[in-house]
Amino acid sequence: MISPFKPFCPIAVIATTPQAIKTLHSLCQQIGATLHVPSHQTSLDNTQVYQGSLKDYLTSIWSQNRVFIFGLAIGAVVRLISPLLQNKSSDPAVLVIDPTGKFVISLCSGHQGGADHLTQLIAHQLNTIPIITGATNNLNLPGIDILGLPFGWRKGEGNWTAVSSLISRGEKVQVIQEVGSTLWQDHLPSNHPFYFGFSEFNKDVKFLGQIWISATKRKFLSELNFYKVQWHPRILWAGIGCIRGTSESLIEKTINEVFQKYNLATDAIAGIATIDIKNNEDGLLKYCQNKQLPLKTFPADILIKIQVPNPSTIVQQEVGTPSVAEASAIAAANSSADSLLVSKQIIQSENEGAVTIAIAKSSLEYTGRTGKLYLIGTGPGSLAQITPAAKTAITQADVIIGYSLYLDLIKPLQRPGQVIEAFPITQEKRRATRAIELAQWGLTVAVVSSGDCGIYGMAGLVLEELQKRNWDGNTPQVEIFPGITSLQASASRVGAPLMHDFCAISLSDLLTPWKVIKKRLVAAAKEDFVTAIYNPQSRTRTQQIIYVQEVFLKYRNPKTPVALVRSAYRPDEKITLTSLEEMLNFTIDMLTTVIIGNSSTYNHKGWMITPRGYD
Ligand code: SAH
Repeated sequence: MISPFKPFCPIAVIATTPQAIKTLHSLCQQIGATLHVPSHQTSLDNTQVYQGSLKDYLTSIWSQNRVFIFGLAIGAVVRLISPLLQNKSSDPAVLVIDPTGKFVISLCSGHQGGADHLTQLIAHQLNTIPIITGATNNLNLPGIDILGLPFGWRKGEGNWTAVSSLISRGEKVQVIQEVGSTLWQDHLPSNHPFYFGFSEFNKDVKFLGQIWISATKRKFLSELNFYKVQWHPRILWAGIGCIRGTSESLIEKTINEVFQKYNLATDAIAGIATIDIKNNEDGLLKYCQNKQLPLKTFPADILIKIQVPNPSTIVQQEVGTPSVAEASAIAAANSSADSLLVSKQIIQSENEGAVTIAIAKSSLEYTGRTGKLYLIGTGPGSLAQITPAAKTAITQADVIIGYSLYLDLIKPLQRPGQVIEAFPITQEKRRATRAIELAQWGLTVAVVSSGDCGIYGMAGLVLEELQKRNWDGNTPQVEIFPGITSLQASASRVGAPLMHDFCAISLSDLLTPWKVIKKRLVAAAKEDFVTAIYNPQSRTRTQQIIYVQEVFLKYRNPKTPVALVRSAYRPDEKITLTSLEEMLNFTIDMLTTVIIGNSSTYNHKGWMITPRGYD
């Protein structure tokens, strides 16, 4: 299975006819889905056979799957699923693929269930047309009800349907973002309907809706024709101290009471912080487990160094630091005393124990996600030359990082709401560092290189930078998607010049001493390798290619065929078939790959051919 599909699993695929089964069987393997077929069809490997009516069977597996993909007539699917649908925040995603696999349709739960997103990924995989009818998708806007998911935000109260429909009608909606990442704002289309900031001062703009992004829990009164929703980025760390044996229920009660008193949203809790001797405190562990919150613990000698407003000598005597709740909240928020939103509060109960709590705010939200790095080769330059797996990974990522020119090429693969970060061509290291930073934070980051990412591309740089940071090999997770490298792309445009042993040599001396490059050129020329030259000539680096000709002329016939392929598979592609003695009479630049034939390579009617063997 290609991992971009993992977040959607378990996926059930249902097909009832031989044609649909054939179409969907291999898709199931690619995306890690289970194929369900009726017992009267001959079963293939890895299929689940069902007895009786599909209607009953579907009811029995409905709640066990996140996604259903039907290879049936859409009308039949609508009838089958309609009694099972409840509401869009909990229904599974439903997709339909026509039996020949020409169209993929997002039918139900487009946003929160991920059907729109998955439809686009499967369309790449099958090389077919995605049909997505949701309005915001087609306005190229992120769905407002999924906006914060990449950053781990939690959805709060509000009328989500009403605000979504305002947006899809192009009505102006006010966004008041108090905390959390603003990355999502950077790549909105120019005609987006959001107005950022407060409106009281701007009487000209009339809003019908409001989106709050904050740690505050707002109670929305229902107003006629004015709708509100709220997202909660997880930026609050609750520092907890308690006496041994304090119950989970008292901890929960304390947190709820204090959050309510200060109008804070418990959905904005990043995690719980305490002193390390509490890492086996049963009630605390249970609370964290039930609420799916991380527990960060700190030793007394770290906590003692943190300035707090309410130190206690009694606590100091007991655990070796004058503060647990305040100091651990501040430590977890990675901040200082001014990040403390709520200073120490004590809640006691006669038979359940006692809890102290303090709340600190961190500047960066906790995503609660494990980041991924997709290192992707996008091929020489046309969409048709990118592998389906690479396309899927690009569309799936939260963030795409690359050189601006290559990012333009893959624009059609972008999904509304993705963060796109373009860097100038020279800033490879900054690209790698930024990608790692975002992945360590929890995002899925696609780093794109032209050609293959592992051949003079970004893959090596990213892995090197990870290694420098003592990467454990797993977190962030790395997956590499190969691409067609320039030497293959260029060769395919001129014939079959690489039919015998060949090598690639880059003439760029930015990271490799020229002395080393020279030695390799001599070796390749001498040992009769077909040689592909990358980075042959820049505006300032012009002597190297002259040296190449000189060295090869020493060992090969001046008539040896040479191909100069510039911008293969791009609109401005230019191909020149020439010879060793004449190659320098043509334009050679940084968009060109030079292929020098071996001693038996020949040209025939405009085709460059290297025989498979030597005579
Ligand atoms: N990772 C890339 C190579 C990057 S080095 C790959 O695998 O192809 C950059 C060099 O690649 C350029 O100087 C040029 O020599 C070659 N190149 C890149 N795109 C090309 C294209 N479309 N046609 C011909 N050569 C190309």
